Amino acid sequence: MTSAVSSAASAASLGPSASWSGGSAPVIELHGVRKVYRTGSLEVVALREVSLSIALGEYVAIMGPSGSGKSTLMHILGALDVPTSGSYRLAGDDVSRMSEEQLAEVRNRRIGFVFQSFNLLSSLSAWRNVELPLCYAGVARAERRERAVAALARVGLADRVEHRPGELSGGQQQRVAVARALVGDPALILADEPTGNLDSASTEDVLGLFAALHEAGSTIVLITHEPDVAQAAGRVVRVRDGQIADDSGPAPAGASPRPIAGKSGGHR
Ligand code: ADP
Ligand code: MG
Repeated sequence: MTSAVSSAASAASLGPSASWSGGSAPVIELHGVRKVYRTGSLEVVALREVSLSIALGEYVAIMGPSGSGKSTLMHILGALDVPTSGSYRLAGDDVSRMSEEQLAEVRNRRIGFVFQSFNLLSSLSAWRNVELPLCYAGVARAERRERAVAALARVGLADRVEHRPGELSGGQQQRVAVARALVGDPALILADEPTGNLDSASTEDVLGLFAALHEAGSTIVLITHEPDVAQAAGRVVRVRDGQIADDSGPAPAGASPRPIAGKSGGHR
């Protein structure tokens, strides 16, 4: 637990990032980002000069075919990987200049991650999975349980807190993963194909959760290759061959995300 302690201690050294709470800098600002993977003598250019700016409170879908660089982009946005060249400012801070401790602090406290394959620990109950980010952030045990149970209630799983992932449906597992992403109250949610393994009813559930988080003020970046999923966002950025091919631009102020195509607006 020493890393959690040091990461908590480093929070102060991060300095005031006003942008996380409504300052003028965009939450995400990529400029000329290039990412080259080198495997032996083979080079793959996954991103070429990507520039992208996302403001606080936006709900953005990043769309593109398989292999177009979406996951690479998400890893960079989440400070899980670094660009080969170009710059990335996260809430106004240059990520390339952050220390390992500062990076850990940002990943643990500012960003909630959701992945296609849920990434839950199969030996742990739902609430134990959900409390994990709070463990890393050094939150006391009793508070962790309370917040994990509350997060599970928010995603409609109040009656499944003691279930293990294997005892839950795919849609329920992804809702546990969403609860884990939101338990630390992050400013930014990054989701990589979160509905890729879900049926249409569970897809609707997860998109409904994101819409509620967006309403509550979260900035959401949703990566998908499904057009009807992308429509849930107010802004769609299309990626092709590692480049931004099209960007619908920020949604007009006050605009609500559109309902999912072909589905009635009723809440399940
Ligand atoms: P997407 O998520 O859109 O399917 P990725 O970002 O995963 O695309 O991949 C973009 C390109 O980079 C692909 O050609 C892929 O093969 C390559 N790539 C991704 N990750 C790595 C890696 N760790 N090492 C080498 N090549 C990679
Ligand atoms: Mg991918």
